[in-house]
Amino acid sequence: MGSHELRIYELRINLDRCEGCNICDVACPINADIIKTKGKLTRKDAVILVVNGKALVCNPDKCNGCGVCISVCPQKGISMTLKPLVVKT
Ligand code: SF4
Ligand code: SF4
Repeated sequence: MGSHELRIYELRINLDRCEGCNICDVACPINADIIKTKGKLTRKDAVILVVNGKALVCNPDKCNGCGVCISVCPQKGISMTLKPLVVKT
């Protein structure tokens, strides 16, 4: 029996800082690919999306951890932690 390590990115939005400007969801490259193929970002598909004036991480499993959203947020309202997860095989 062996094991391998998966990397899980945990993205957090500080809702006290978020002003709902939409910059993060537009900048996310995965969201951009969804817009290219489907034409519209929805809560079902988007990684990060502004809903009711606050950014929301909708599909954390789709995040590739690139950090683009973190660097573009004018409010410094997004942070990420990397959680190694050891999976037994
Ligand atoms: S870029 Fe920052 S302030 Fe703007 S919606 Fe995203 S988290 Fe909120
Ligand atoms: S870290 Fe990258 S892939 Fe994940 S939500 Fe932010 S911009 Fe999108």
